[in-house]
Amino acid sequence: MNFLIIGQGLAGTLTGYRLEQSGHTVHYVDAPRQTASSEVAAGIVNPITGRRFVKSWRMDELLPVARSLYHALEEELGIKLWYEQPLIRSLHHRGDLNDWQARSADPGYPEYMDDAPDVGRIPELTTSVFAYAGVRQAARVDVPALVSAFRKKLAMEGRFFAEVVDYEEIMGLLKVAGRTLKGPYDHLIFCEGWRARFNPWFGDLPHGGNKGEILIVKTQAPILEQMFKHRVFLVPLADDTYWIGATSENQFTDDSPTPANRNFLADRLAEVLTGTPYEIVGHRAAIRPTVRDRRMFIGTHPDIPQLAILNGLGTKGASLAPLGSLWLTEHLLEGKPIPEEVDIRRFNR
Ligand SMILES: Cc1cc2nc3c(=O)[nH]c(=O)nc-3n(C[C@H](O)[C@H](O)[C@H](O)COP(=O)(O)OP(=O)(O)OC[C@H]3O[C@@H](n4cnc5c(N)ncnc54)[C@H](O)[C@@H]3O)c2cc1C
Repeated sequence: MNFLIIGQGLAGTLTGYRLEQSGHTVHYVDAPRQTASSEVAAGIVNPITGRRFVKSWRMDELLPVARSLYHALEEELGIKLWYEQPLIRSLHHRGDLNDWQARSADPGYPEYMDDAPDVGRIPELTTSVFAYAGVRQAARVDVPALVSAFRKKLAMEGRFFAEVVDYEEIMGLLKVAGRTLKGPYDHLIFCEGWRARFNPWFGDLPHGGNKGEILIVKTQAPILEQMFKHRVFLVPLADDTYWIGATSENQFTDDSPTPANRNFLADRLAEVLTGTPYEIVGHRAAIRPTVRDRRMFIGTHPDIPQLAILNGLGTKGASLAPLGSLWLTEHLLEGKPIPEEVDIRRFNR
């Protein structure tokens, strides 16, 4: 079958790759000069989140699927994408420590929680904290590198169109039996991130958006081996830089970086990275595609089943998209049901 994917961020990339692996032909269209959430993300895969130290939704299922898909893409593209990097988080007081220790004894938690982690050079390079805790099986996916390398490959193969999709024209590209429309594609799959709110077929879903800003910081000192969360995330990248982030705003007027948030992040960073000189070399912003109930949007249009969507990856695209893309493609190719929690039909449109 022939597929057209609209939006080649993380959702579009992984969905298209899975379809290609099943022997189908996939073309992609993405708007030039538009910021994608996938270009700005750190790609942290964090099994234990929040102040109450809760295991992320379906983490036991997500992790093996994510590892295997990103490893396959590493082979395909010849670049490293999946970094098994320990995540150390600070605990602020005795109550935090008690909560962490109690949770880490719960069934299903010891494989993700480490009460006595190896913190490496964190105490030397950063401010002192009450205590450290370690998140096991944390990882980082180089999402920007994945999207960019995949796009280069598509462009070389003539399967990438750099265009803003005009929703009225695009229906003319679809083959729809019994209608007058005749085009080259059997399915159109929409993966436009937060801009899906403008989509005429799926725009009525409860799309949210959350703006995030980050800094890129260069240091001459040895870089940490672990990711560290204390007031902000410090994420060591490959080239002696840290990704520092992120802000979170549900109200926004655009997706541009702001001086106020630069200062906010710079202040927090100055409080944390106390043991080493550094220079801020980048400042970026993007909008995360969020959903009210914090679950993905997966499904097909109720009247035009050739139109499908994968969206709503929120703050956790790196871990959610591998399984989300599997559910969508198995539904399209084999008719398998989409889990109710993520099926767009849960909104009773
Ligand atoms: C600051 C920040 C930090 C983050 N950190 C993490 C993290 O550590 N871990 C994690 O898992 N997630 C993180 N995320 C979230 C992650 O980025 C998202 O979950 C994920 O990348 C969303 O991917 P997507 O493909 O759905 O959307 P996007 O990456 O936004 O891609 C959508 C694409 O659709 C294109 N598009 C839209 N409309 C049209 C149109 N009409 N025509 C053509 N093309 C169109 C856009 O140009 C874009 O390229 C972070 C996000 C931000 C902003």
